Amino acid sequence: MLSRLSLIRPLVRRLHPYVPGEQPKIRGLVKLNTNENPYPPSPKVLAAIQAAVDGRLRLYPNPTAEGLRARLAKFHGCAPDHFIAGNGSDELLALATRAFVEPGQAVQFFTPSYSLYPVLADIQGARRNAIPLPADFALPSVSELRKNGAWDFQAPLTFITTPNAPSGRGYGTKELEALCRAQKGVVVLDEAYVDFARENAFSLALRFPHVLVARTFSKAYSLCFLRVGYMAGPPALIAALQKIRDSYNVNGLGQIAAAATLGDLPYYRRHFKRLIATRERLCAQLRALGFAVPPSQSNFIFVRPPGFPAGEWLRQLRRQRVLVRWFNQPETRNFLRVTIGTDGEADALLRAARSILAR
Ligand code: PMP
Repeated sequence: MLSRLSLIRPLVRRLHPYVPGEQPKIRGLVKLNTNENPYPPSPKVLAAIQAAVDGRLRLYPNPTAEGLRARLAKFHGCAPDHFIAGNGSDELLALATRAFVEPGQAVQFFTPSYSLYPVLADIQGARRNAIPLPADFALPSVSELRKNGAWDFQAPLTFITTPNAPSGRGYGTKELEALCRAQKGVVVLDEAYVDFARENAFSLALRFPHVLVARTFSKAYSLCFLRVGYMAGPPALIAALQKIRDSYNVNGLGQIAAAATLGDLPYYRRHFKRLIATRERLCAQLRALGFAVPPSQSNFIFVRPPGFPAGEWLRQLRRQRVLVRWFNQPETRNFLRVTIGTDGEADALLRAARSILAR
């Protein structure tokens, strides 16, 4: 018998998919591995979601998330056609890849940064242009990039995670602007963690014809479960993304929850302050234990643990019911990424680290 031809495209057969952080169901686990917010959505948001759970579930949601986009427009001080909502910002990063990159062309990003970008390039049959960041994860200047030669100023799509993930390093709007100005193709500034940073670069998406900013309600706004993100930028680019999204890409409860979130921002800002205070305390206390802890402007820290390899720390911490993230790539394998949780969770991590070091 003839061997059966594969039913699956070679590109898909070869593809290494994105690996999400683990969502284990272990009781009493201190879960510091996926940058979720330890504080719940505001009571007003929970009430809005609950009020919407009725016979309306049988109806399709608004296809363009009109209500949410109107609120975003008011919040950011521009027109609704500057916004597209997505099923998480992940969907919007994927749409940008589909809309702006021909197979064979380059998707460009720094390493380390968000590990989804290379997967999106692969799915599109595009070429990855992965440019290493320096050891301190600083954003290289335009002249450094020109000197280095590997950076492609013509790349049709460049992703920049700002503040950077997984390092947590914040980038200034001025340096991002210089890079955007030098870039010919589309630049997506992925601001998933920007609410924990000193600066944001939203204004660049309103000033440049080729710059988009991606934001999410997952992290700072405690809505991972409902999957809502948005992209902002020039209406011509946003219209291109609107053309290729699924008809009802943002679920109805997500639209309601995200719009209600924008109506209760002081609640969230109180928690940003709390998380930043916990972050700074945890950084200082881990440094005192011998961890190398670069400064972070996000809701996670990227730490180099003392004594033995980071992969072994991951296992030892897990044994103590503390779950953190380890990326087994050459440029990240000496580090652990630790999400900032509550003060109690930070204390649990510190206790576990002390007992591991005492052995
Ligand atoms: N960008 C970065 C840098 C992220 O870490 C994440 C979360 N994994 C996302 C975007 C996507 O978040 P979401 O799809 O939940 O909006």
